[in-house]
Amino acid sequence: MVASARIISNDSLEKIAIEVVGCSLCKLSRSRKNAVPGDGQTSAKIIFIGEAPGKNEDEKGRPFIGVAGRILDEALQKAGIERSQVFITNIVKCRPPGNRIPEDDECAACRPYLDRQISLIAPRIICILGATAYSSILGGKSITQNRGKIIKRKGQKYLITIHPAAAIYNKNLRHALEDDLSSLSQEIKKMENLDRNTILDYIDG
Ligand code: SF4
Repeated sequence: MVASARIISNDSLEKIAIEVVGCSLCKLSRSRKNAVPGDGQTSAKIIFIGEAPGKNEDEKGRPFIGVAGRILDEALQKAGIERSQVFITNIVKCRPPGNRIPEDDECAACRPYLDRQISLIAPRIICILGATAYSSILGGKSITQNRGKIIKRKGQKYLITIHPAAAIYNKNLRHALEDDLSSLSQEIKKMENLDRNTILDYIDG
């Protein structure tokens, strides 16, 4: 379930992280070194959702810290988006052996953690990184045909883009990622301006 407004609850990102670290709900728990709950604050405006932790992330228990993470950081910086504005996580919180694509039962077992993170943060927009996240969250098929698009589902906005790992050896894809994050930054500014004008109209009225 995706919430469009922050809810009052006893849940917290810390509580979810503790549960994830001790989780054995799917077979990925047997091969992981460290579960990777996600990084960021409840006040984040954007949630980035990738596929799964890789080798470096599995070693350290933190998301997007390898080469793909550096590409994402650079694209964020170029788009003027600060790390403090974002929460970064994955569809599954444990590394699949050999970095294979997570299986449907693993995605389904892990999904409640992601849904709780989304409900708590109530982001302005969710940025989908890559085909696995696109398919798992929105049931989408072609990332190449749909990247760069902003769509709304059940009151929640999403921006679809490529996974930074796909851009490691491909400059064109790196530029595509940077362009998409620049659109994301513009969209956030647009939404904030709209909020500001609504508040000013209310005060004036
Ligand atoms: S991938 Fe998710 S459901 Fe599976 S063991 Fe890790 S935290 Fe639990």
